[in-house]
Amino acid sequence: MAAAIGSSSFTLLRNCALVVRPFSTAKVFPRPASAFSFRSKRVRFPVPSSHSRSRRLRFATNAVNDEEAAAKAAAATLDEGAPTIFDKIIAKEIPSSIVYEDEKVLAFRDISPQAPVHVVIIPKIRDGLTELGKAEARHGEILGQLLYAAKIVAEKEGVVDGFRVVINSGPTACQSVYHLHLHVLGGRQMKWPPG
Ligand code: AMP
Repeated sequence: MAAAIGSSSFTLLRNCALVVRPFSTAKVFPRPASAFSFRSKRVRFPVPSSHSRSRRLRFATNAVNDEEAAAKAAAATLDEGAPTIFDKIIAKEIPSSIVYEDEKVLAFRDISPQAPVHVVIIPKIRDGLTELGKAEARHGEILGQLLYAAKIVAEKEGVVDGFRVVINSGPTACQSVYHLHLHVLGGRQMKWPPG
């Protein structure tokens, strides 16, 4: 499975709405009020560099701690049969910005985008796939369909020449929604190694 599992740069950025750079241009990915209104923009922050470094470190550390705490809480309260927020999206009970849909899979924009293109792809029927770590041989077909859907999404989003697919599986990988999903990320230079 050609999926990259959780990365440090990805992890650091997941809950960070912006990266502060002194006297330089910083890229901002605002958390949209709705899934329909994402746009990145550039701003300037005239902050002294030593202050900026410590602030950036504190900011990144807080983001990591928040994310890890949220992931641990999600795992601790996990009820494998209970519906998740993604069931509401499938049932169209809450709005989402759908990028691609077929009989088996649904792809929609992440509400907290970590890149100019950030789309989540899920199976419409969970069938025990709360996380990739729970996959069984019988899931082979849907796993293949999800991965192929990632390529379709990348094409639709204009990033098929370079994109990343991430699956966070379990609390150590900071999974927060227990309905298997792929993240398709693109539109900016990705970093490696992940962490
Ligand atoms: P993970 O942390 O790998 O479990 O990913 C779950 C993803 O679902 C996160 O990136 C969230 O931002 C995203 N998410 C949660 N709720 C929604 C929602 N209502 N619409 C779109 N994306 C969501």
